[in-house]
Amino acid sequence: MNGVSFYLVGIDERKVFFQNGKVCCRECPYCKSKTVNGHLRILCIRTYEPLMELDKLGADCPLSFTGEIVGKKEQKWESP
Ligand code: SF4
Repeated sequence: MNGVSFYLVGIDERKVFFQNGKVCCRECPYCKSKTVNGHLRILCIRTYEPLMELDKLGADCPLSFTGEIVGKKEQKWESP
């Protein structure tokens, strides 16, 4: 044994809400920007993918879409 007797498992799960179903990086909290040497860099902080077109999803976007909220009620979509 290497001294590790067990691991505690944590899960990072966060819902992301897109108003009126407009799904794009611009509206996502994982989209972050930073200026480096005078150049603006925009990244997805989930995938570290540089984002060029903020009105679309990044090519490696890890989000899956499970339902929608209308009024105060969340409706889950059926699994295929
Ligand atoms: S690629 Fe997906 S997770 Fe990353 S910023 Fe865009 S919408 Fe958000």
